Amino acid sequence: MTPIHAQRTAALEIPANRFREIGHRLVDRIAEFLDSLPDQKVSPGMSPETVRAALGFKKPLPLNGSDPDQLLQETFDLMVQHSLFNGHPGFWGYITSSAAPIGALADLLAASINPNLGGWALSPMATEIEAQTVRWIAEMIGYPVDCGGTLVSGGNLANMTAFWTARRAMAPWDVRSQGLGPDRPRLRAYASTETHTWIEKAADLSGMGTGAVRWIQTDEAQRIDLNALRTQVEADRRAGDFPFLVVGTAGTVSTGAIDPLPALAEICEAEHLWFHVDGAYGAFAAALPEAPEAIAGLRQADSVALDPHKWLYAPLEAGCVLVREKKALRDTFVFHPPYYPEEDQDPDAPIFYHEYGLQNSRGFRALKVWLALRQAGLNGYRQMIADDVDLARELFEAVTAHPDLEAFTQNLSITTFRYHPPGWGATSSEGSEEINALNQKILEVLQERGQVYLSQAMVDGKFCLRACVVNFRTSAAHMRALPDLVAEAGRELADRID
Ligand SMILES: *Cc1c(COP(=O)(O)O)cnc(C)c1O
Repeated sequence: MTPIHAQRTAALEIPANRFREIGHRLVDRIAEFLDSLPDQKVSPGMSPETVRAALGFKKPLPLNGSDPDQLLQETFDLMVQHSLFNGHPGFWGYITSSAAPIGALADLLAASINPNLGGWALSPMATEIEAQTVRWIAEMIGYPVDCGGTLVSGGNLANMTAFWTARRAMAPWDVRSQGLGPDRPRLRAYASTETHTWIEKAADLSGMGTGAVRWIQTDEAQRIDLNALRTQVEADRRAGDFPFLVVGTAGTVSTGAIDPLPALAEICEAEHLWFHVDGAYGAFAAALPEAPEAIAGLRQADSVALDPHKWLYAPLEAGCVLVREKKALRDTFVFHPPYYPEEDQDPDAPIFYHEYGLQNSRGFRALKVWLALRQAGLNGYRQMIADDVDLARELFEAVTAHPDLEAFTQNLSITTFRYHPPGWGATSSEGSEEINALNQKILEVLQERGQVYLSQAMVDGKFCLRACVVNFRTSAAHMRALPDLVAEAGRELADRID
């Protein structure tokens, strides 16, 4: 084979030696940035006006091009000066992890080869790496490794993919071609009131309407009430509806509560319902040798949603859905247009990922997850996850011991608490509005100061500060400093109110 060498002049081309030069400069600056994270403010605390002005938001589309080196330098400054840094050791807001540096390099490599993981022929090694990543994620949490699975953009899409799979698998008619209609029984899904809002999007966008979701009350520990669930399923069946799905959450979004998954599995088995586990946040805790039975119960689920961009510390975006029966996943999404080759039914045949989900063309998001799994290994991950949980527990204990703070919950790596000095609305509901408002203000002040970043949760109508430790850079010293930072801010604000 004689290579054809000819050079075309194109506005986007960057010759190799120039690429090397620009790339090295960028990598140097990124390394410096990562090193400087502990000294930065977590959040820039800027108004949208300031950010837009820095960008020059209303500038028109450039007619002519610019030098790529200059562009990257400028963009680096724009980003570093106007971003919230979830890689900061003091970032515990929402369930967003700090990102593994190998993920940044993986994305560079993935974008350089640019495989399209819609079809095997367009991405031979990349498709096999994704399939191995799915296998390893299943293995990590003790789920069958021969399950179906695919990487998606995040927890929402992972959960919705499972929802659509359950709908097709459980509906007693061909719901893909016939849809839903007034002459069909109403499909019903069951989930606790603590369930993440993805389920509303799923019910709405699959044409069932959000009214199809039965919100089941929770117990005092924010877990689904099993009796209420049984009663509702029974009542719906009597009314002629068709219950099809129960969702259990492994780590709820506000307090990290874990539904009693083994008991839910039992109910689903007895009642012929699809059992899905939303483990977007907590499922990876099932990798711990000491994982509680409640969470290990996800191994009995028909499907599980997980978020590698949470507890696997992958840079955004990476979600993952696992479906026990591989065929059920494919049967939900496959069509056979004449312009695509058909997948072989042999279980060892290569996977065409466009048949396993919503996307057609797909990027190589698996690479950053696969490389991180290899860099840390199962043991490395067990250590990081267990350390995050320990830090949340230490915080809970420190808050409990602090005279001016009140601890509420600690599940997995989420701790909720509030500033509540002695004497404030201690006896009656008097002061409860005030104490909520004061804690809201504390949250804002801490975010502005930028040493730490917390988010919020409502626990029994009480506004709480919430620390989610999904951060391999956080140390015990960071955690120990937090109670006094909160108490100081609280005292200053309370003095101002008085
Ligand atoms: C984060 C989260 C989601 C949503 O996941 P995204 O990755 O943000 O789409 C769903 N459920 C739970 C329990 C979560 O923690």
